[in-house]
Parts: sequence; structure tokens; C-alpha cells
Amino acid sequence: MATALSLAPTSADPTFADLLAIRPSLSMHAQDGLLMEDVPLARIAAEHGTPTWVYSANTLRRRFRALKAALEAAGLRASVHYAAKANDNQAVLRVLRSEGAGADIVSAGELRATMAAGIPAGATVFSGVGKAPEEIRFALEAGIFQLNAESAEEIEMISAIAAGMGVEAPVSLRVNPDVDARTHAKITTGRAENKFGIAFEDAPALYARMAALPGIRPIGIATHIGSQITDGMSAYRAAYARLAEMIGDLRGRGLPVERVDCGGGLGIPYRDEPAPTPEALAGAIKSTLGGLGIPVMLEPGRWLVGPAGVLLASVVLQKQGSARRFLVLDAAMNDLMRPAMYDAWHGILPVSPRAHVAPLSPADIVGPVCESGDTFAKGRLMPAMAPQDLVAFLDAGAYGSVMSSTYNARPLAAEVLVDGARAALVRRRQTHEELLAHQRIPEWLD
Ligand SMILES: *Cc1c(COP(=O)(O)O)cnc(C)c1O
Repeated sequence: MATALSLAPTSADPTFADLLAIRPSLSMHAQDGLLMEDVPLARIAAEHGTPTWVYSANTLRRRFRALKAALEAAGLRASVHYAAKANDNQAVLRVLRSEGAGADIVSAGELRATMAAGIPAGATVFSGVGKAPEEIRFALEAGIFQLNAESAEEIEMISAIAAGMGVEAPVSLRVNPDVDARTHAKITTGRAENKFGIAFEDAPALYARMAALPGIRPIGIATHIGSQITDGMSAYRAAYARLAEMIGDLRGRGLPVERVDCGGGLGIPYRDEPAPTPEALAGAIKSTLGGLGIPVMLEPGRWLVGPAGVLLASVVLQKQGSARRFLVLDAAMNDLMRPAMYDAWHGILPVSPRAHVAPLSPADIVGPVCESGDTFAKGRLMPAMAPQDLVAFLDAGAYGSVMSSTYNARPLAAEVLVDGARAALVRRRQTHEELLAHQRIPEWLD
């Protein structure tokens, strides 16, 4: 079931030790408590305050290398275009760039961010259902590697803009293969009823139309069927088999297809879900698209960065309600939106070593925002906690900071990068002054 993930425990939650065992960037030190790589999280909290996002550079590197190795071992000619929307922090982008990542972007702002981090536009794919004309122009001026077109209307727009600029836009068609990725309804993108992509039946005629239009070089087919896909490889395999069939059809009509873009979506285990491996994904690509003899592209976001980040928060107070114990934190739904938005489950680990041997009892873990939806977990087994005790939300590296808002006039949290024994602030905490700075008072008001 798509909604099987829930805030409430459905069966025994993994223990703190279980959570730590499969997260190699984290460990428990007898004196210093929870470490990321070699840095105590308590030290980061003391230096930079909370809430603070903390990212592990070596986890980013290890995961990027594991994905590349899986693609190479399958004998695929593949390029990896990191989906910057998962985490667009400059330090994170730079670590991935130095591993050889290209980018997948969905706005001019993201293209500016990835270029600022040194990822060339020539290694960047521009996806998205509503690229504005000025965004398309900016991407073409920058020398974008590929635009993934999502509608007939957009193809006409790209053609007019590129022809007006006297350039040829490299365009792939994003097709909607109408497969069910069996993930959360808000992050499934490959069904016929979703807004994304071009209906499978319409794609061949549109591809031919692209070849006839000025300013467009048709270069391939793309798809992206959803995010947090953990339900084995069947949806991927079904989607890629349909792409392979379509590419055969296009070639049969004498149309050139230079490459195929397999999208992102590979899921990670937040709780104890069985998560597919990059080897399984590489195998699914190989068995469906491998025979075409063209390069493949991947656009992973969450799989690369999700497990590399935690959100560090402090307990404001422990409140004994009439029916429940509440741990009220200084982090809230405006920081980490995933529980409120997707009913997502995140592991929550106390940072102090004493808390890992203390007796546990259920607690609802909440933030201070004035919404009942500001609940991170219900009935989670936690020790007794006191004001200023620290907790870490696990797997918060993807769709964490980037989805934060300033709701309740709460400044955006700080971000820190850990690399071995080093830690550095990579985005300072927003100030209250900055929150007000963009507002203007009309002259006719007092
Ligand atoms: C969001 C997105 C991705 C990345 O998805 P993940 O689930 O984070 O891997 C890749 N491609 C496109 C087009 C996207 O919109």
C-alpha cells in the first residue's frame, strides 16, 4: 500500500542500535555520544545551535561511487545527473561535482546553483512540467546538455525560442509510461493521471514533429516514474521496457535516438523497508535498455543525499499530557516537512550516550508550530528527556532543508558539512532581521 508508511508504529520500530547498524556515517561514542564521521554532534550543536542540518561528505562520496560502480559492473555506458532539488546546498553540490556528477535541475534557480558549484550546464538536464520562456532561454544560453520536454506546447515554445536565438536545443521527450511505482501518492509521477510527461501513445508522432521543427535536435527519450521507490524493480522494469519498445519504433521510422534518460526515484530505507540496491537498478536498466547500444542517464536525488544528512534538534521541554508524553523540540514542520507532508517515518536518535541505555517509554515527538500536523512521530519509544537534550533526525539529507519554510516566522536553520574530523558551517542560520528585510510598507500606512 502506498500509505503503509505512517507516523504511528504499525509493528515494533527498529531499536536505536538497529538504526545505527545500517548507517555507517553515524556511531555512538561512550563519552562524546552520537558522532557523524569523527565529529560529535553535540559539539556542532554547541557551536552552531539548533535546529541544524548536518551532512556527511564521505557518505555522499561513498554513495556516488557505489552507484557508479554498479552501473559499470553491469557494463552500462552511463552518466549520473544528481537531482539538485533534493539538496541544493553549495557544499553538497561541490562534493558530488568532484565525484563527477552532472546535474538534473527543475528551475533557473537550480541551474544557477549547480553552475555556481562548478557543475557545467553541459552536464546538466533541465526537467519540469512548466519551464518558463526566460528559463528556457537562460538554459540555452548557458549551453544546457538536455531539455526534457513534457508537452507538445512546450516543444513549440522551445522551438520558437531556440530558433530566435539561432541555436539548436537538444531535446528529449519525457514520456509517461503509465506504470504504478507504488509509492506515496504525492510523489508518484508516472501514471496517466499525473501531470508529468507525454502520453505514451502520443510520443512517436511528437518525436517526429520535433525532428521537423526549427531550433530542435531530438536526442532521446526520458522518463521519471516517481520518488522513494522501494517496491522492487517491477515498476522500473515495466517503464524501461516500454521505453525500449518506443525507441525501437522511432528508429524504425528513421528517427535518431542518441541516449535514454532513466530518471531517478531509487528509494532508501527510512525505517526498515526493504530498499532496492543500485545493482538491482543497473540490472533492470541492462536487461531492458542495454541492447540498444546507446548511453543511459540517471537522475538520482534522494538515494545519494538522503542518508548523508541528519537534522539536529534540541528538546525544549518534556510535557506530560493527560493521555501522552510529548517531547517538544525546537525543530518543527517548517524545518523538516516530510512527516507532515508525506506521513514519512524518520528515525530519531538521542545524541547523549546515557540516553541509549536509559529505560524507554512511548512519546509523541512534536515541534512548537501551531498546527497539530507539526508532529514528527507518535508513540515512539524514547528515554526521559530534559530541556536542551539533543536528538538527531536520521536520513534528513534529501527533501529536508530544501523544503523548509519560515512559517511561524521561524528563521531557516543552519547547515554544517562534516568531512572526517572536520566540520564547517555551510549555511549560516537566517536571522530575524533577514526575515523582515524583504518586506515593504506602503507609504499610505502609518
Ligand atoms: C525529483 C526528480 C528526480 C529525483 O528523484 P529522487 O526520488 O530524489 O531520486 C529525478 N528526475 C526528475 C525529473 C525529478 O523530478
